Amino acid sequence: MSLTTRLAKPTLAQLINSSSHSKVVPAFFATKKFFHNTSKQNNTLDNVSNIPSHTPGKQQLEVANGPSAIPRAKLSPSEYLTPLKTTELFSYVCIGAATINKPILDLCIKLFPYVPMFVIKALIYKLYCGGENIEEVKQTGLRLSKRGINNMMLSLTIEGCDGNDKIEPEFIVSETAKSVSDILIPHTLEMIQNSGKDINSIPPGYVALKPTGFTKNAAQVLKDYKTDPKFEELVENAAKICNTIYNENIKLSAQYPDRIAPFVVGVIDAEKFDLQEGVYELQRRLYAKFNPANKPVSVVGTLQMYLSGSADLLAKEEKLAIENNYRLGLKLVRGAYIHSEKKRETVIHKTKEDTDNNYNQGISYCIESMEATERQDTNTPTIGHLVVASHNAESLRLATDRLKNASAKSQNRSNVVLGQLLGMADNITYDLIKNEKVDNIIKYVAWGPPLETKEYLLRRLEENGDAVRADNGFGLIKEVCNVLFKRFFRFSHET
Ligand SMILES: Cc1cc2nc3c(=O)[nH]c(=O)nc-3n(C[C@H](O)[C@H](O)[C@H](O)COP(=O)(O)OP(=O)(O)OC[C@H]3O[C@@H](n4cnc5c(N)ncnc54)[C@H](O)[C@@H]3O)c2cc1C
Repeated sequence: MSLTTRLAKPTLAQLINSSSHSKVVPAFFATKKFFHNTSKQNNTLDNVSNIPSHTPGKQQLEVANGPSAIPRAKLSPSEYLTPLKTTELFSYVCIGAATINKPILDLCIKLFPYVPMFVIKALIYKLYCGGENIEEVKQTGLRLSKRGINNMMLSLTIEGCDGNDKIEPEFIVSETAKSVSDILIPHTLEMIQNSGKDINSIPPGYVALKPTGFTKNAAQVLKDYKTDPKFEELVENAAKICNTIYNENIKLSAQYPDRIAPFVVGVIDAEKFDLQEGVYELQRRLYAKFNPANKPVSVVGTLQMYLSGSADLLAKEEKLAIENNYRLGLKLVRGAYIHSEKKRETVIHKTKEDTDNNYNQGISYCIESMEATERQDTNTPTIGHLVVASHNAESLRLATDRLKNASAKSQNRSNVVLGQLLGMADNITYDLIKNEKVDNIIKYVAWGPPLETKEYLLRRLEENGDAVRADNGFGLIKEVCNVLFKRFFRFSHET
C-alpha cells in the first residue's frame, strides 16, 4: 500500500480525534500487534516504578500507553551517576539542594538572575552546557562517547534573540556553520572510524537552528512571513548552514557508501505558537531544497505534539512532501512553551494525558510510515529521519521497543534517534544504553558564552523542578554522596 493510499485512509489526526480520550487504540494502530496492547505481558508495578524520573505514575502510564511489553533490568539508583566527573557530581549536589522543596526551588529561580556568572560557572554551567568554545565542546563530545553517547545535537545558545536587536545574524550563521565543520563532522568521523561499532550504529551529528537567530527582529518577521521581505533573508541565512550540511552529506556518502543515515543534520527548533506558521514555511522551503528524494535527509523540522492541531499537521507535511517529491525529517517534541502560551486554551491539548497519547501515537505513526515504505522495497521513505526528543521514559521506551519489533534487517533503524538535553534525564539515558543496548542516542548540547546561556540555564532549573521530583532533592544528594564517598574511599585506598 503506497503512502498516498495510506493517507487517503483515515489520517493520523482523524484517528486520534476519533479516540480523543484514548483508552481506545485507534484502528490504524489496532491492526498492528502494538506492544502495549497485549494482555499477556508481564507488567508489574515493580517494573513500572523502576523507570527512572520524569515518568508519569503507573496509572497514567497505563492510560496513556497501556502495559509495557518488556520487563526491564533493575538499575541501582546511583548507577547512572558513577560515570560522571566529580565536578558534574558537585553540580548535581547543587541541583539536589535547589530542589529540596518547592519554596526553596522558587526562591532559587527568583534569585538566579542576580547570581554572579562566576558562581554559576563554578556550580552548574558544566552540567548543562557543552562549553564556551569549539575546543571545549569537542571535549564534551569525547566525554559523552565514553558514556555510550556517540553524538550530539549542538545548539549555539545566544539568548536575547527572541525578537530583539542584540543578535548579529551573520555571527550566528558563521559560528553555527563552524560548529558543523569543526566539531560535528570530525566527531562523527572519529566515532565511525574508532569506536569499533558498525558504521550504522553511530547517530548523525545534529546542529539546532533557531529560526529567531537568522535575522534582526525575527519574531515579527516570522509572524509576518507572508508580507515581510526580511523573511527571505531569514530563509537564506538558514539555507547557508543547510547547504554546508547537504554538501558534507553528499561528499561523505560517496566516501562511506554503506552508511544509511546522514552524517550531519540541521534541525529547525520550534518556537512559540504565533511564530510557528513562519517556521513551518521555513522548514518546507529547506526540505524542498535539501531533502530531495533518493538522498539522505539533511534537514529535520520540529513538531510540537502538545498542539492539538499537530496530528493534522503531520499528515499535511507528509502529503506535501509526497506531492513535491522531497523527504521529511522530523523531530517530535511535546513542546516547551506551555506556561507562556497565551492561546493555551485553544491550541494546546487539554490534558497532559492527551499530549502523551498524541506524542506516542506520533512516534508509532512515523516509524510505521518508515517501515511501510521499506516493506515495499522502496529505499527512500517519505519520512526519512526521526528524532524522538524527550525525557519521558515511557515515550523513549515505546520508540525503542517499536524499533526492536522492526526486523533486524531494518534499513530505517539507524534513521530513528533518541535525544535528551545534556544534564537532563541522565538516569534514563543511562538505562537505555545499559539495559536496552541502544546506540541511537544523542544529547542536546547547548554551548556558547556563559552570559548568553544564563536564560537557558534558568529554564533547565525550572524544568528540573517541574517540580521537585522523587529523584531530585535529598534523594539526589544522598545518591551523589554515596558515589563520591566510594570514589574518594577507593582513591585513598589505592594511594
Ligand atoms: C533534544 C530536545 C530538543 C527539544 N527541542 C525543542 C524545540 O525545538 N521546541 C520546543 O518547543 N521544545 C523543545 N524541547 C523541549 C520539549 O518540548 C519538552 O518541553 C521537554 O522535553 C519535556 O517534555 P518530555 O517529552 O521530556 O516529557 P514530559 O516531561 O513527560 O512532559 C512534559 C511536557 O508535557 C506537556 N504538558 C505538561 N502538562 C500538560 C498539560 N496539562 N496539558 C497538555 N500538555 C502538557 C508539555 O509539553 C510539557 O513540556 C526539546 C527537548 C529535547 C529533549
